[in-house]
Amino acid sequence: MRIIISGAAGFIGSHLADRFCRDGNEVIGLDNLVTADKRNLQWLSANHGFKFILHDIINPVAISGPVDLVCNLACPASPVDFAPLNIEILRVCSEGTRNMLELAREKNAVFLHTSTSEVYGDPKVNPQPESYWGNVNPIGTRSMYDEGKRFAEAMITAYRSRYSMKVRIARIFNTFGPRMRIDDGRVVTNFIMQALAGEPVTMHGDGSQTRSFCYVSDQVEGLVRLSRCDYDGPINIGNCDEIPIRRLAEEVIELTGSRSSLAFKPLPGDDPKLRRPDITLARKILGWQPSVPRKEGLEKTIQYCRETVQAIHAARNHETGDSAAQWT
Ligand code: UDP
Repeated sequence: MRIIISGAAGFIGSHLADRFCRDGNEVIGLDNLVTADKRNLQWLSANHGFKFILHDIINPVAISGPVDLVCNLACPASPVDFAPLNIEILRVCSEGTRNMLELAREKNAVFLHTSTSEVYGDPKVNPQPESYWGNVNPIGTRSMYDEGKRFAEAMITAYRSRYSMKVRIARIFNTFGPRMRIDDGRVVTNFIMQALAGEPVTMHGDGSQTRSFCYVSDQVEGLVRLSRCDYDGPINIGNCDEIPIRRLAEEVIELTGSRSSLAFKPLPGDDPKLRRPDITLARKILGWQPSVPRKEGLEKTIQYCRETVQAIHAARNHETGDSAAQWT
């Protein structure tokens, strides 16, 4: 297959590009690198099937030759990016998604979109099935992302109905693993980085809010299966193992062998109190369910964070000639 991935240099996008290349497909990656890192694609440059194009999908993209599958992953996704990139997020979800839909329409390709559990907002039902319409604040601190993603789903549904396109919509729940930005601001990397540095772990609120964390290899397997199935409604892809954020902090402190304490901070506005996917549909339609336990995923992510920090220190020390920096 010939596959286009927008957001290919991002965390999930780069893992998806790896997987499609390893399966023998020709992959073209697009990214404007606003929150992504081209180093995520480094090893793929050596893979002859992979081509990278620096491109912001709010502008139309011209690709010559046939395309079988368009995967739309481009969008800043960390809550710390929501305020500084508010209009960029709304534009990539609306204009960007439309440009990618147009590309898929022109090529008669399948269109796979990565939506989010944020379409459920601060949910009033737990776990969240795809049939739940959500509880979203349209003018809140997360509205650019939540409403952007909801608009994208509406746009995709309109294209499907008007042009009879083959569309696939993944509602991605919290996903973690190597290649997350270590300063990304999201909870898993924040806790790991703080624990490794022996700094207090920042707990928003009392830590009773819950999330359900899916390891990235499981997420990618779900997306690949979705691209091959024949179901055009949204499907939740996430791990059902729900934990309070405070428990996550304890796990990270234990697994890193850190002596960090907890530092309690105010809960940011509109922070969902609960989040857990109902994956009945994914089990039935995709024959998929996550297989990597959180502990194993955290160990791999901790290892990745350690290596990334060491590489940064080595580069700095090389510049300054200082070899004193120590990390646990
Ligand atoms: N969180 C926290 N400390 C941090 C970062 C995040 O307690 O240093 C909380 C955050 O307020 C939320 C949860 O952890 O309740 C998950 O945050 P994240 O930004 O990873 O993703 P979200 O699921 O909120 O989009």
